[in-house]
Amino acid sequence: MRCHTAALRQNRPGGLPANVWFSSMSRIRAKFFDPYGKRYGIPTYPWQMAPSHLRTYRQLAEAGLRPGGQGVQAQVMWKSSWARRTGGVRVAYLYDVARALPKRRPSPAQLEALAKALKARRLCPRCGQDRGYVLRTGLGCCEECATPWELEVV
Ligand SMILES: [Zn+2]
Repeated sequence: MRCHTAALRQNRPGGLPANVWFSSMSRIRAKFFDPYGKRYGIPTYPWQMAPSHLRTYRQLAEAGLRPGGQGVQAQVMWKSSWARRTGGVRVAYLYDVARALPKRRPSPAQLEALAKALKARRLCPRCGQDRGYVLRTGLGCCEECATPWELEVV
């Protein structure tokens, strides 16, 4: 969280002196401005005012990243008429991009194992054919091999 003041300076429109900028913030936005988490427990920023190294889960995902074990680092709060249930305030959790990790993609070996497992579940032990559908677990064979009473029981 050390660099958040620098990031805020970057976000400040037109390089206004901090006192002018803060006094021009609406009361609502000021209410959600808590970079040290004194009021909300974790650093809190109004909408669009979070430092750029803090990203939402979706923003991380778009960059091919995941939080990677880190907890929520900060939050963004904004007023929304859609969120009446929570007092008209919506929250988005933020993660530090520096501590994020690349998204896990299944390896070719994992994909092959998965394909094999699915193929095994399509293979009928009675006729030995790949039926193109996963066999009913209770039946233990394909629909064609099953006797009418087996189909009825399962
Ligand atoms: Zn069969």
